Amino acid sequence: MLLGPPGAGKGTQAQIIAARLSVPAISTGDIFRANVSGKTELGQQAKTYMDAGDLVPDAITVAMVSDRLAEPDAKAGFLLDGFPRTIAQAEQLRDSLAEMGHRLDCVLELVVDQDELVRRLSGRRMLVDGEWVQRDDDKPETVRHRLDVYREQTAPLSGFYEQAGLLARIDAIGEIDEVTERAMAALEASGEQPGAPAGG
Ligand code: AMP
Repeated sequence: MLLGPPGAGKGTQAQIIAARLSVPAISTGDIFRANVSGKTELGQQAKTYMDAGDLVPDAITVAMVSDRLAEPDAKAGFLLDGFPRTIAQAEQLRDSLAEMGHRLDCVLELVVDQDELVRRLSGRRMLVDGEWVQRDDDKPETVRHRLDVYREQTAPLSGFYEQAGLLARIDAIGEIDEVTERAMAALEASGEQPGAPAGG
């Protein structure tokens, strides 16, 4: 799983690392955004929280992830991006993975200082229908709030996974491929074998 504040590059690295490991990247932010665009009931429930830069309640998020992890492509392993984000989510994930006979192999924390995060997030644009647009939650006031939410609710996961002996911290400043190489080296050092299905 990838842990790190908004703007640390989790989404970018998740795509690359998941492809290298031949496992799906499961991003709760992407699943929520797809539901918001598709105007599903889940999307409607999540939208107000997302627009405000707050976390979607644990019950909604955990149920969504459980459904996703039950899909066949996640059987041989997966890379989580943006989940868990609270200690309660982490505890529920640990319990439901145990029930499924799975476990987390490694938690990679992408470390980036606050100034760099603000710079990255305020400049970030997404391509939507051929046009570069700013995510609503990348507006400066929402960015500041999301970083506060990270510090208060998600940063404690670093200690949680360190205690569980699963945490590897990597410097996430630099070129994308440099960060990927650091991530792959940390995964290898943790005993995870790049290129082989995870979890088995
Ligand atoms: P992200 O793309 O990971 O930055 O997620 C965008 C937004 O989706 C977050 O600001 C939250 O509102 C919501 N979200 C994504 N993942 C979670 C999660 N694990 N728990 C609660 N809310 C989440």
